[in-house]
Amino acid sequence: MARKLTEYTIRGFSCGCRVSGTDIKTCGIAYCPQHKSAPDLYEACKAQHEAIDILFAMLIMRDKKFFPSKSGKKPWEAIKQGNKALAKAEGKNE
Ligand SMILES: [Zn+2]
Repeated sequence: MARKLTEYTIRGFSCGCRVSGTDIKTCGIAYCPQHKSAPDLYEACKAQHEAIDILFAMLIMRDKKFFPSKSGKKPWEAIKQGNKALAKAEGKNE
């Protein structure tokens, strides 16, 4: 009969992620909700970034004087923030 091993937390993080296992060979990461959803957030960020690009292109087609960088702080800052986050997630330097 197999001996029941006790699983213990090797290291916990302030976000809620923790590394746990019965020993070094069985340890793994239990992600907190935010880090567990990181792949979904990455794909959503890419999709929204593309959608904003399309909307900017549509606005440029309607108004040749429209400049995305002069569209107001929120839209342009969102594009810049998205670029930065995507580059970071892809391991690229800015
Ligand atoms: Zn976490």
